[in-house]
Amino acid sequence: MKKQVLSYWLKDSQKKTYPRLEKNLNVDILIVGGGITGILCAYQLAKQNKYRIALVEKNRLYHSTTGFTTGKVTVQHDDIYHQLIKNKGETIARAYYKANSEAVQGLKKIVEEENIDCDWVDTKAILYAFSEEEAKRLQREQNAYDTLGIPYEWLDKETLPFQTLGGLAIPDQGVFHIVRFLDGILNNLNVDIYEKTKIIKTNPTEKGAVAETADHYKISAKHIVLATHYPIYKRFNFYFTKIKPTCSYVAIAHEFAIKPENAYINLIDPVLSIRFLDSADPKLMVAGFGHDVKNYYSYLDQIHKLKAMATERLGAKDFTEEWYNQDYESMDMVPLIGKITDAPLYLATGFRKWGITSAFVASLIIKDLIEGINNQYAYLYDPNRNKNTFKTVCYNFAMLSTVIKTKLLTVPKSIKINPGNGRIIQHKGSKIGLYIDQNGKTYSVKPICTHLGCTLRFNNVTKTYECPCHGSRFNYDGTSLDGPAVRNLTQL
Ligand SMILES: Cc1cc2nc3c(=O)[nH]c(=O)nc-3n(C[C@H](O)[C@H](O)[C@H](O)COP(=O)(O)OP(=O)(O)OC[C@H]3O[C@@H](n4cnc5c(N)ncnc54)[C@H](O)[C@@H]3O)c2cc1C
Repeated sequence: MKKQVLSYWLKDSQKKTYPRLEKNLNVDILIVGGGITGILCAYQLAKQNKYRIALVEKNRLYHSTTGFTTGKVTVQHDDIYHQLIKNKGETIARAYYKANSEAVQGLKKIVEEENIDCDWVDTKAILYAFSEEEAKRLQREQNAYDTLGIPYEWLDKETLPFQTLGGLAIPDQGVFHIVRFLDGILNNLNVDIYEKTKIIKTNPTEKGAVAETADHYKISAKHIVLATHYPIYKRFNFYFTKIKPTCSYVAIAHEFAIKPENAYINLIDPVLSIRFLDSADPKLMVAGFGHDVKNYYSYLDQIHKLKAMATERLGAKDFTEEWYNQDYESMDMVPLIGKITDAPLYLATGFRKWGITSAFVASLIIKDLIEGINNQYAYLYDPNRNKNTFKTVCYNFAMLSTVIKTKLLTVPKSIKINPGNGRIIQHKGSKIGLYIDQNGKTYSVKPICTHLGCTLRFNNVTKTYECPCHGSRFNYDGTSLDGPAVRNLTQL
């Protein structure tokens, strides 16, 4: 695998590596995926001291979505509570709050008990309003907090450190350095870990299930946890019709005009999410300008707009790092976590860019399902719920036009590409994806998604090919990174 663009967290991590699997294995539990979900599942299961556990990762641990997060640990998942009350009722909204509240406390407890040096800082999570429309939504969310008994404080506009129309603060939330947190967990974990080990197949057997790696080794297990962001089981499992990929941009500034405390987010585009890093040498992290991946926005324009807004509103300057990443969301806002019917396979996905607490919730639900223990939140997250809702049908119908649009897309015949950049061009009647690295080496691939054949786009922020249909992503050399496309791109 060639070099990948890294985030602040990944540049700053321990950089420990793990071997590639080069033999068959027989374990009690196989965890596929080395992001926060896989690692927390491994942690909860290993703590039971009774299972042989292996964790396999196709690339490097947390180099996918997890390593590109903003590291806010909170129950304040935008203004979800009034929407949950409206769409699913008070009982479910309260259960969602409770599950995530226990997750915030559970994650903090791990930091303390395992003595992990990960810059955990207790903060308020603040939902703020720039516009009148946002202020109305804040009001609705405040009513939901009252109904559900969520502790909060209303902050008048004068008390916020930048110009807003006020904010809704939940106390006792946190921010942390996610990679150091996960490094800390792994230091004490009795689990066999393999990197560069891609699972290409999982099949149920009489005694459990068997997974096959791309190098044709077999891993037999009683249970297999698919902590793979997009759940990979069967070649074609139709989860792409149930979860929608959306993306966001992140940048770090070294100069800013506001006091470094708390974590903030507003509700309506353009979203400006804010937190601080590194109390010894404070930096400002901003994120937002997210969109559905099917939108043909320029990646570079979006990141420039994010930085311009941070400069205008927060006096942010001297940006050093910037990145982009995407997450899946389910059609009813609640993640899909649980067991796949009739097979000892478990999945967790659809975290809606609030995957840190959701991964913790997933780790407990999956541990309990494996142990045969009743989990009070399992019904809420059941992945087999909501088949063919109106929203799902509309989403998939609209997706057909995106699939067709990508196929009809015209691209330039030839164009100058500077080192460190990539493009898709037309050459002798075919589309070719070209990337030229800083040393002048050219990588050329067939820029057609190996999932449903959509034409990909090149993302010059992350040097990756992105599929506007269902969010599959590939490194510039064609290696598959994320999403329903399991096979790499064809190299030309
Ligand atoms: C820009 C951005 C900011 C965010 N900020 C926050 C935040 O502040 N707070 C918050 O709570 N959430 C946040 N999120 C959401 C959160 O980062 C994600 O929900 C979470 O990281 C998902 O973790 P995961 O382990 O499920 O997936 P991933 O991190 O994607 O891990 C899945 C792993 O599985 C591996 N894998 C896939 N297929 C295979 C295979 N076939 N064989 C072997 N391995 C495989 C992948 O390589 C990958 O490493 C943010 C998301 C984005 C995009």
